[in-house]
Amino acid sequence: MFIGHFALGFAAKRAAPRLSVAVLLAAAQLADLVWPFLVALGIEQVRIDPGNTAFTPLDFVSYPYSHSLLFLCIWGVVFGVICALIIRSAFSGVVVAALVVSHWVLDWITHRPDMPLYPGGPKVGLGLWNSVAATVAIESLLFAAGVWIYVRSTRARDAIGRRAFAAFIGFILAAYAGAMGPPPPSVNALVAVSIGGATVIMLWAWWFDRHRSPLA
Ligand SMILES: [Zn+2]
Repeated sequence: MFIGHFALGFAAKRAAPRLSVAVLLAAAQLADLVWPFLVALGIEQVRIDPGNTAFTPLDFVSYPYSHSLLFLCIWGVVFGVICALIIRSAFSGVVVAALVVSHWVLDWITHRPDMPLYPGGPKVGLGLWNSVAATVAIESLLFAAGVWIYVRSTRARDAIGRRAFAAFIGFILAAYAGAMGPPPPSVNALVAVSIGGATVIMLWAWWFDRHRSPLA
């Protein structure tokens, strides 16, 4: 899943208004932020395999540390505690931890059975990706709902808060459409695009969120 993770990050702004939406999006996407680095280091493996499911040309051979339920619970506690200590809000820490674990739940719904419960353990997945139409429909609905909650929970203070935010939504949707295009030419290209894209997305989200005030 891709924009579905963003949906939960956006929606969480209502529950944790003092955290930048960049932090909330990073929590929901933590698994996919860590993953390209582990692939680059050779700790986790991915293969380009057009037709692996209808939606993705990627075969996630092994990703126990970025994508197992056990490790996402661990990363969730670590990231949640760090955020709770920084902004002195235990509840916000719980929100962040839940977002990190939510990544596993959404990926479990979308992936074929390649999502490990724990390293070396059974792999599960409901395979929503076998249908492009169902994937796009469900993710788009989730995304629209998440963005709507964010818009209702914050107010633009200036033009950046409006335009940089709107452009961000356009960029995410374009990236989502791009993910349905031709498969990446190599694993190295995939890693580079993943790390570069994530950096741009997080800085951009940090920027527009600073120009919007929480209403809560
Ligand atoms: Zn993922």
